[in-house]
Amino acid sequence: MDYAKNLNRDHGIARAAQLIRAADAIVIAAGAGMSVDSGLPAFRGSGGLWTTLMPAGMSERQLGSLTQGDCFTKQPSQAWTFYGRALDVCRHSVPHDGYQLIREWASTKRHGVFVYTSNVDGHFQAAGFSEDRIVECHGTIHTLQCATPCSDRLWPAGASNSGASEPPSCPNCGGLARPNFLLFADDAWIPARTARQQAHLHDWAAAIERAVVVEIGAGQAVPSIRLFAETFGAPLIRINLDDEHVGHDTAIGLRGSALAVLKEINAALLKDAPLVDTSR
Ligand SMILES: [Zn+2]
Repeated sequence: MDYAKNLNRDHGIARAAQLIRAADAIVIAAGAGMSVDSGLPAFRGSGGLWTTLMPAGMSERQLGSLTQGDCFTKQPSQAWTFYGRALDVCRHSVPHDGYQLIREWASTKRHGVFVYTSNVDGHFQAAGFSEDRIVECHGTIHTLQCATPCSDRLWPAGASNSGASEPPSCPNCGGLARPNFLLFADDAWIPARTARQQAHLHDWAAAIERAVVVEIGAGQAVPSIRLFAETFGAPLIRINLDDEHVGHDTAIGLRGSALAVLKEINAALLKDAPLVDTSR
């Protein structure tokens, strides 16, 4: 990096720290890039997870069919081999330190933090974020539903995993169960849990005055997170590994991985002045 680039970078980090310092509430809009630093490659992207979780006899190309909503009815055994392993990976991987940095920032804010994420890994809950301050817009791998579905019933994934001999079944009709997350062309997904979370966000957002949105690792392929971040109606800090461009001057784009940039911002917050919410 040359001098001018360094200066730009320092300026961007300092401005981001300033926005966070001035806010009375932090909104985190997190995409797959937030999970990558905990060792979880995007389910929909290419990378390690695809190949390590691949059911025997399937090619990497065929795995695309497991991102479709009908995979649990068309190929239940392969779908559960894959997602059962994915559930194990999500349970056993540890959220990276960036989650704790955000919690520290939020602890100084009158209204704390609210998370809006497309990630289904449950890592914000695992990192100690409050369950009623999270919207999982694509659902979660830790909750199950009927694959048909025969009813709106949802239940915890419990012991079901790749070690189980049979895929989990619906306690209501006895048919196949599936995770309560949204796949492509997925008519069977039950949105009730996510809808309740959206209602929590709506209530919380009504009380805040000076929020800042920190968008982390959100791609353009499935733009739900970017759309949310851009339309929330607060200053935006975009952290992205390779596509940090922002449309207008009031937003800040910072290139880099989630953990690296969160650490940089944290260093800037610690350097200048103690983190104080003046509205308290
Ligand atoms: Zn059922």
